[in-house]
Amino acid sequence: MPAAKPGSPAKSPSKPQAKPQSKPQTEPQPEVPAPAEPPTSTDRPSADAPIEEIDAMTEHHETAFELANALGLEGKVILVTGGDRGIGREIVKLLEALGAVVAYTDRSDRKSHHGSLSLHADVTYPGEMEEVVERVERELGPIYGVVANAGVTRDSMFHKIHHRDWDTAISVNLTGVYNTIRPVYPLMRERGEGSIVFIGSIIGEQGGIGQVNYSVTKAGVIGMARSLAREGAFKGIRANVVAPGFVETGMTAVIPAEIREKITADIPLGRFASTMEIAWPVAMLLSPVAGGFITGAVISVNGGQRM
Ligand code: NDP
Repeated sequence: MPAAKPGSPAKSPSKPQAKPQSKPQTEPQPEVPAPAEPPTSTDRPSADAPIEEIDAMTEHHETAFELANALGLEGKVILVTGGDRGIGREIVKLLEALGAVVAYTDRSDRKSHHGSLSLHADVTYPGEMEEVVERVERELGPIYGVVANAGVTRDSMFHKIHHRDWDTAISVNLTGVYNTIRPVYPLMRERGEGSIVFIGSIIGEQGGIGQVNYSVTKAGVIGMARSLAREGAFKGIRANVVAPGFVETGMTAVIPAEIREKITADIPLGRFASTMEIAWPVAMLLSPVAGGFITGAVISVNGGQRM
C-alpha cells in the first residue's frame, strides 16, 4: 500500500470556461465526538444505546474484521469525493478498515491522516477531476470504485430562490458528479469492472420544502445511476445510489431545533442517522461480494421516514 500522503495538493489544474459565479459557501463544521472506548467482543449495544456506542460496536466488533476479509475490497482502489468530513470521511475510514486503498478529495487543508492519498480538488472543475483520476491511477493503481459523495444544500423556497443558489446546487451535486465519473468510467470499461456509488438523498426521492434545487440534483443522480447501470452492465460496471435520510453532519447541524424536532417525530426510528450507518451500505454496494448482483438500485437509509 502506498505511503500516506495526507494533504498533498493536486497540481495546478486547468479551469473550465464555465466557472461558477461564486465559490460555494463554506459548510459548517461537524462536531468531533470524543473517541469511545473500544468495547469487548462480547458486548452488545442495547436497542436504545446512543449512536456513538453503536458506532463503536460496529467499528470494533470482531465481526467487522471477519467482514473485512469477506467483502472482497482488500487492495481495491476506491476514490471518494469530499472525504475529509461528514459522511465522506466515515466512508473513507470504513473502506480503509475493510482493506481498500482509498483516495479522497477535499478542498481544505485540514491535513487529516486517513486514506492513502488525499487530493485538493473542486468537483465543479472538470480539469481538476481529470487530474485526480490520473494521479490516483498513477500513484495507487487502477480505480475499482468511486463514491460520488461531495454535495451542498442551498435551501430556499422556490419563489425566492436566487439563480446563484440554483446554479451552485446543480454545479456541485449534478455536474460535479458527472465531472467525477466521466474520466474514470472509460477506464472501468476497458478493464471490464467497476462499482460506482452515488450519494443521493431522501429529498431526491420524495421532494422537500425549500429544497427544489437540491431535490432536482438528487433525483438527477438516480437517473444517472440507473442509466449507467444499464450502459455499464455488459462491461462489468455496477452503479447504485445510497439515499440517506437525515444524518448527523455539518449539513444538518444548521437545522433549527424546532424543525429538527418535527423531522425527528416523522422518523420511525426516532433519530437522525450516524455517518457510519451510511458508510456501511456504501461499502456493501461497492463490494463485489455483498453487492455483486446489485445494480441500478436506490438503497434508502432513512430510519423508515420514507417507505
Ligand atoms: P457535509 O457538509 O458535512 O460535507 C460536504 C462534503 O462535500 C465536504 O466533504 C465538502 O468538501 C464536499 N464538497 C462540497 N462542495 C464541494 C465541491 N465543490 N467540490 C468538492 N467537494 C465539495 O455534508 P454531508 O457529509 O452531510 O453530505 C455528504 C453527502 O451526503 C452530500 O452529497 C449530501 O447531499 C448527502 N446527504 C446528506 C444528508 C445529511 O443529512 N447530512 C442527507 C442526505 C444526503 P470540503 O470539506 O472540502 O468543503
